[in-house]
Amino acid sequence: MDYGFFDGEFISLDEPKVQLEDRGYQFGDGIYEVTRIYNGKPFALTRHLERCRRSLRELRIPITYMDEELTAIHNDLIKKSGIRNGAIYFQITRGCAPRSHAFPDQTVPLLSMTIRESAPDADQQENGIHCILAEDIRWLRCDIKSLNLLGNVLAKQAAHDKGVQGTIQYRKDQNLITEGSSSNFFIVKDDIIWTHPTNEYILKGVTRSILMDELIPKLGYTVVEKAFTPEFALTADEAFATSTSLEVTPVVDIDGHTIGTGAPGSISCALLKAYHELVAKECK
Ligand code: PMP
Repeated sequence: MDYGFFDGEFISLDEPKVQLEDRGYQFGDGIYEVTRIYNGKPFALTRHLERCRRSLRELRIPITYMDEELTAIHNDLIKKSGIRNGAIYFQITRGCAPRSHAFPDQTVPLLSMTIRESAPDADQQENGIHCILAEDIRWLRCDIKSLNLLGNVLAKQAAHDKGVQGTIQYRKDQNLITEGSSSNFFIVKDDIIWTHPTNEYILKGVTRSILMDELIPKLGYTVVEKAFTPEFALTADEAFATSTSLEVTPVVDIDGHTIGTGAPGSISCALLKAYHELVAKECK
């Protein structure tokens, strides 16, 4: 059963619990993480908790939840819900205070979490997704996993409006691709993997880090962290997007241009296979 956690209590998802003056609600003043549950176990939780602490530090929200506590709540939610395969969403806001832009003197950060059953889209992984290009109109701290997601929401909606599955964003002033609306983006050209470097223009995805630190070196591929133009991407031999939900999902069409042969490329498929093997090993 889907389940929630709010202000220290386990609750059902339909219980009305938002506090009206929570700064997350009024300003998007908070951070979030999404972790995937496989076989009743959270995957890559240490990396998610590390990024959560970094996001909190960057926004100067006091770190009042220990990793041990967050891990224990993950495990309790899994146990109480009985969910074996799904996703846990959690957010930490700066807390509640009368509405005023600057940080209030004393607020207590507020944690809420949900668990829902879900699974990666096997059909998209097998056949690839079609994407459009859209201008990246987000703020200049995309490295923080903040609750402010309207730029990402509009980018994703643009794909839905066009009847495709994803959006690849590019900065218009630089004519360089950054990332997907909720994923990191990679291309392969002449056996070299390209992806945007980690800076304030992209989120350092946990899945991206697993590929960069573990899977790409293990499979012996060459990767460059270098931004590239939309025009260059259209000439790629392969393209793929990564995220906790997508895992490694091939991109076979961008703005109506076929990428490579139009079928998922061999490097994308090998990375997805290696990712599944890692998940199977970590979440036995
Ligand atoms: N970039 C953005 C903008 C995202 O929202 C996400 C998913 N939260 C990612 C990249 C991928 O991150 P992860 O691999 O940690 O899910």
